[in-house]
Amino acid sequence: MTEIVIVGAGPAGVAAGVTAARAGAQVTLIDEYDRAGGQYFKQPAGSSAAKNFPPLLADNIQKGQDLLAGLSHPNINFLHNTLVWNVTPDRKLSLYSPDGSDELQAQRLIIAGGAYERVMPFPGWTLPGVMTVGGAQLLLKGQAMLAGRRLLLAGTGPLLQLAGVQLLEAGAEIAAIVEIQKPKTLLPYAFKFWRHWDKVGEGVKNQWRLKKAGTPIKFGHTVTRALGEQEVEGAVIARVDDTGQPLAGTEETLDVDTVCLNFGFVPATQLTQLAGCEHRFDSRYGCLVAVANQHMETSQAGIFAVGETRGIGGVDVALLEGRMAGLAAAQQLGYSSDETEQNRQDTLRAWQKARAVVETLGAMFAVKPGLCALATDDVPVCRCEEVTAGEVRAAVRTGVTHLNGLKPWTRVGMGRCQSRICGPIIAQIVAREAALDVKSVGSFTVRPPVKPIPLSAVKDPKGF
Ligand SMILES: Cc1cc2nc3c(=O)[nH]c(=O)nc-3n(C[C@H](O)[C@H](O)[C@H](O)COP(=O)(O)OP(=O)(O)OC[C@H]3O[C@@H](n4cnc5c(N)ncnc54)[C@H](O)[C@@H]3O)c2cc1C
Repeated sequence: MTEIVIVGAGPAGVAAGVTAARAGAQVTLIDEYDRAGGQYFKQPAGSSAAKNFPPLLADNIQKGQDLLAGLSHPNINFLHNTLVWNVTPDRKLSLYSPDGSDELQAQRLIIAGGAYERVMPFPGWTLPGVMTVGGAQLLLKGQAMLAGRRLLLAGTGPLLQLAGVQLLEAGAEIAAIVEIQKPKTLLPYAFKFWRHWDKVGEGVKNQWRLKKAGTPIKFGHTVTRALGEQEVEGAVIARVDDTGQPLAGTEETLDVDTVCLNFGFVPATQLTQLAGCEHRFDSRYGCLVAVANQHMETSQAGIFAVGETRGIGGVDVALLEGRMAGLAAAQQLGYSSDETEQNRQDTLRAWQKARAVVETLGAMFAVKPGLCALATDDVPVCRCEEVTAGEVRAAVRTGVTHLNGLKPWTRVGMGRCQSRICGPIIAQIVAREAALDVKSVGSFTVRPPVKPIPLSAVKDPKGF
């Protein structure tokens, strides 16, 4: 039996692992990716040094390397290229790696699975050249490659501007950044950033860099169409109304070869759901988040949820929650740390402060229901099973208003992505068509395997 198993080697999982190992616990850290770091501290392939990257990325990669140095602790066993495809409430994990399949029984389990990017379908969104902002960042950080020559960044939230600066520094041309929120909806939140001057400073610096490069930032706009036959050859943007619905007659065509989308994030809760942990619906993000107490322990004793799985929080929150969970899990096993009560109180206060910032950001950049209008009836919304928005709407008109009910009617959510990508989109479309709130249309039931694995990896197909 392994003392502490941590799923996810992003900032939250690494912080948890290093803290627990330093307290004396034996830790197994697992990630499906080949390198630790997660989304924010994604590390370059091979031996590329941080200094080979432009300043903003170099700083990010270096900070990641400082954190990851802690993984050399002798109490940490890091299993990379290893997918956790099932978890049971009694903390038994099913693993799959190129070396084969395995099972692990954990005394304590910390789930730090991160988040996915939310996209919104529109005509042309399946063309090569349309990708997520994170996909473009991944190419840049992981492979030192630019996603395209002339890019449009579209969606909502601070990542658009940050990624815009990173791409500019790497030599990309940014035709525009289009943000669906309008200044009049963002400004009332300004006073909430009082005392969070570091965050304000970052935002102002990014805007200044974009302005200096002549990159237009169009608030109250969205992408409405990607143009081209075989790949992206242009994109249409338009102004939106207060619900996020595009306004006819305001369209503008841009000459771009790449469209990068980010309409916020959706926490990865597949594993916490399989483990039977309690979840709550977060209306700003329009999805479920795992519920946990201030030690990060979920409703299932001995199972902890940290970082984005517990609600979108960004890197500072992920690091703090990781430390808190690592310490609590180690203490439950009888290990003690040299952390003083004063340190503990400071960490708690820092966490409350960091969470307060992201609560505000969540409210500022909440999902806009009118964006569903982008997915006209002929647009595929479930790419794996090739189901169009029109087929989903037709099913809703026959009275199917729960996501699980849509499966036998349309096959949505039954493909390779297992609704990770399409689930949040379809929930919005169903809610709008049925005039319900998103919470009441429910969510797709999660079943193992959470990601595709070969059948040979299933040890007991009868019990599966
Ligand atoms: C594309 C993208 C860009 C972002 N950019 C920023 C940014 O610029 N600034 C910011 O503050 N925040 C950013 N975020 C938010 C970011 O997720 C957090 O800041 C931070 O990385 C969260 O840390 P985490 O450890 O919770 O999750 P992550 O960093 O996402 O790490 C989760 C890890 O879990 C692994 N994993 C997941 N499921 C499994 C499984 N079943 N089996 C094995 N391994 C698994 C993943 O491979 C990943 O390495 C971004 C998020 C995304 C998705």
